[in-house]
Amino acid sequence: MSIKENLDKVRKLVGEKACLVAVSKTKPNEAIEEAYAAGQRVFGENKVQELVGKYESLPKDIKWHMIGHLQSNKVKYIAPFVSLIHGVDSQKLLKTINKEGAKCQRKVPCLLQVHIATEETKFGFSAEELVELLSPELLADLSFVDIQGVMGMASYVDDENQIRTEFRNLVDVFKRLKQSVFSTSDSFKEISMGMSGDFEKALEEGSTMVRVGSSIFGARNYNK
Ligand SMILES: *Cc1c(COP(=O)(O)O)cnc(C)c1O
Repeated sequence: MSIKENLDKVRKLVGEKACLVAVSKTKPNEAIEEAYAAGQRVFGENKVQELVGKYESLPKDIKWHMIGHLQSNKVKYIAPFVSLIHGVDSQKLLKTINKEGAKCQRKVPCLLQVHIATEETKFGFSAEELVELLSPELLADLSFVDIQGVMGMASYVDDENQIRTEFRNLVDVFKRLKQSVFSTSDSFKEISMGMSGDFEKALEEGSTMVRVGSSIFGARNYNK
């Protein structure tokens, strides 16, 4: 199947329920152009250098999402243009994003990554860490960061119940934060969860943003 056919199929499944982020990491510009020609405008990348290169060479109305682990020393390269940083997983990173946002006078949209998988290798905050971290003092200091919600990755397992439980945990964390820290924030509304293997489950559990790569662009040569 072509990229356009894959995209149409995924779009039908996602419908109006969520924003579809087409994850184009490792894929060439031609693949992105094919999806672009089919109307897709939101793309996700997980490496800063690749993201910047694609941003510079592809149409300017593309919304670029940084979905991978982000190192503080690389924030400066994407702060001027990135539409959403999904994986904010430390206070240090929040402060760096704020600093770089200030430099370009831009409120940088971010999601807080929450550790929902039982696997130890995944990045992210626990719910407790977040509630403790997000003091009024810290938030007042982050005037160039727009915290728009949470992001999580379920364990890479076949057990459907486990995956759903992890998604529900993320929705719970979102609700807790929405009721407490972000009760007056209109922009805190996104729950980024679901990938090619599990986005339909994620949508059923309340995802507002799915990150789908291989179901649109085909398998990647190396698994990242
Ligand atoms: C690669 C990646 C995806 C997309 O994975 P697929 O299984 O190809 O859909 C989604 N989210 C993150 C954070 C990723 O790194």
